[in-house]
Amino acid sequence: MLGFLLDLDGTLYHGDRPIPYAAEFIGWLKAQGFPYLYVTNNSSRTPDQVADHLRKVGIAALPEEVLTSSQAAALYMQERQQGGRVYAIGENGLRQALREAGFTIVCEDDDTPAFVVQGIDREFSYGKLAAAVRYIRGGAVSVLTNPDHLLPWNNELQPGAGSIAASIERASQTAPVVIGKPSPIIMNYAIAKLGLPREQIWVVGDNLSTDIQGGQAAGCRTALVLSGLVSRDTLQEQQQRAGVRPELVCGHLMELAAMLSNT
Ligand SMILES: [Mg+2]
Repeated sequence: MLGFLLDLDGTLYHGDRPIPYAAEFIGWLKAQGFPYLYVTNNSSRTPDQVADHLRKVGIAALPEEVLTSSQAAALYMQERQQGGRVYAIGENGLRQALREAGFTIVCEDDDTPAFVVQGIDREFSYGKLAAAVRYIRGGAVSVLTNPDHLLPWNNELQPGAGSIAASIERASQTAPVVIGKPSPIIMNYAIAKLGLPREQIWVVGDNLSTDIQGGQAAGCRTALVLSGLVSRDTLQEQQQRAGVRPELVCGHLMELAAMLSNT
């Protein structure tokens, strides 16, 4: 039995555009009876929104097949303190994950939240930065949903959660606990949810320094798909820069299915 942890953007779709063979690959996984999970560093969407978006690009997905960095952050904090107070810098996906995990989200005038958790927040402000820094300096644990500095957006790059985190880290003089890929924290929750030994799990993605590095660090098998960040031309150079080498490299996902069928 094989299991699969699948990246989304650059692997199954580009923004609103489906990637060729992605829907066929999910169909193949279902036909084989291989368990899989969509694992995303995106902290802004809820699992329902992620599943809706997958359906729009032609992939029949359910919210329970999704693990977001916001859900993993909530799980991480829950293991340390049940139902505590949290200061959150983020969007809907983060707020919903915190509420579902039983946390109370506090405002800028609370005294002592146990955690400051931060994801992408397109309404980030000086006031939010100041509150986060005050809480962290006062002893709150600093948690970052995902380290991505830049995100592809309509052929441009936009600042991601990691860029906001840099200002909080600089001002608070405290490095956050990083939850999203390549951190083993999200990988370990994903592996536990899949319920298979990690040697049987393939981490599939387009990003060497998050998907492949995270998969290798977690002891999983890794497959790079050349539909996103890395092309055949840049593969060697990017592997050297990232310092990781995937076990398999494929042009598209059905090529991966063929490789795995022949072994
Ligand atoms: Mg990706």
